[in-house]
Amino acid sequence: MTKYIFITGGVVSSLGKGILSASIGKLLESRGLKVTIIKCDPYINVDPGTMNPYQHGEVYVTEDGAETDLDLGHYERFITSKMTKANNITTGRVYESVIKKERRGDYLGGTVQVIPHITDEIKGRIKRVSSGKKFDVVIVEVGGTVGDIESLPFLEAIRQFKQDLGAKNAINLHLTLVPYLRAAEEIKTKPTQHSVGKLREIGIQPEIIVCRTEKPLSLATRQKISLFCNVETEAVIQARDVDCIYEVPLFLREEWLDELIVRKLEMPVFAQGLEHWEKKVVQRAKNPSKSVKIAVVGKYMNLQDAYKSIYEALSHAGISGDAKIETKKIDADNLKKGNVSKILAGVNGILVPGGFGTRGTEGKILAIEYARKNKIPFLGLCLGMQMAVIEFARNVCGLKKANSTEFSRKTPYPVISLLEEQKNVKVKGASMRLGAYPCILKKGTKSYRSYGRGKVFERHRHRYEFNLKYKNVFESKGMVFAGASPDSNLMEIVEVKGHPWFVAVQYHPEFKSKPDRSHPLFSAFISAALKTQKAGIK
Ligand code: GLN
Repeated sequence: MTKYIFITGGVVSSLGKGILSASIGKLLESRGLKVTIIKCDPYINVDPGTMNPYQHGEVYVTEDGAETDLDLGHYERFITSKMTKANNITTGRVYESVIKKERRGDYLGGTVQVIPHITDEIKGRIKRVSSGKKFDVVIVEVGGTVGDIESLPFLEAIRQFKQDLGAKNAINLHLTLVPYLRAAEEIKTKPTQHSVGKLREIGIQPEIIVCRTEKPLSLATRQKISLFCNVETEAVIQARDVDCIYEVPLFLREEWLDELIVRKLEMPVFAQGLEHWEKKVVQRAKNPSKSVKIAVVGKYMNLQDAYKSIYEALSHAGISGDAKIETKKIDADNLKKGNVSKILAGVNGILVPGGFGTRGTEGKILAIEYARKNKIPFLGLCLGMQMAVIEFARNVCGLKKANSTEFSRKTPYPVISLLEEQKNVKVKGASMRLGAYPCILKKGTKSYRSYGRGKVFERHRHRYEFNLKYKNVFESKGMVFAGASPDSNLMEIVEVKGHPWFVAVQYHPEFKSKPDRSHPLFSAFISAALKTQKAGIK
């Protein structure tokens, strides 16, 4: 029988519920269990695809083309099972299907209500993820903070779920903040007591409480939380702040969290094997012998979450290349002709991420021109590739005012334009080219060498494409089309001949990078950056 772990959060947001869920997944997987993780998001959007990064942070894309919460990125980086559309349940999606059923007449005669119809839909969706007993354990992370109005239907659903399955098959784990008050020189447990109280009001008694804390939790504090929150003392777990997120499973293991979970769920206790992770990821991440400076030229630079998977993929490449990655975050809007070389001076590599809308595009083009002319390793992702194409058109092919039709409908040279099948698309939700597609690599290119094979599958999220009409002009001027769709109609990778490492891709390799298996393009980019640094090229 599949076992369930429900994870809620209390007191404040941003405690790291996603990392906690992923880390528990990692610990259970290391005991030989098959694990998956579901994220429940209480917002009314059907998916986060239509939200901007200020609202939501990065939109993570799965193999099957779902636009999802960035926590699914953490899950995929920590555990081995692949995330799918079914792993992200939003209020919008739940209501959408209940309303569809109502219109179809599925509930004829009845009043459709939050309980039981919405809660049944939530429970059904959670159950379906492991239908046919695909997984030993399903971890369900409920987004938001306990006490929010909008997460109530999800909490009610998990309350019922546990009731249906029985205590041995489902447990609740609550993550809270235990703040340290400097003035009082004391750790405070009251917010945790209140938060658990709020959960108990709606019928949920957590079995485990994980406390985010700056200071170590004393036994007395644990006993106090245990007494007031009605959990065993050993089920009060401390989660200290860490430098490296990949270390979290190791700290939780020290607290015997996985032992506690398998015991409470009455599961077989296999020996645990986290040595690979400890050696290949954590120790390497913490002790790099080199350092390399990478400029990320984007639009949301003071928002840590906007380019989450990119920063993680860079750090993975650092782990595999034994280098600390110093990211210099540059707002493309601030780049002007007169200051580019000053702002980018001393960086060993330049990365331009994906994006939408005109703001910052001209600055990105300036950064790309700088990378191309000064032979600085360059990696362009999605919009970053489109900008590389525009830069090349304008400055090498002499196609002045070349642009993407996303930014200028009237450009004389639409080198990036809408796909035929996108031209009649009017709705915005889930209407882009989404998910994994094959890409055939050309022998002898940097990309082929990096991947070490001729066919790869990578994840997409875009509407616009390279305009094939210009392919010959570009090739004659030294652009190499290193990867394309199997029918050769969609250009997936461009490179610049004679440059030490200039690779730009129409897809998002960052979504497939793992801490112990860095993405080949990110690894090759970082080793090129290290090489140019060593050679003293500015
Ligand atoms: N805005 C571009 C497009 O829609 C690029 C999208 C992206 O970078 N994800 O094609």
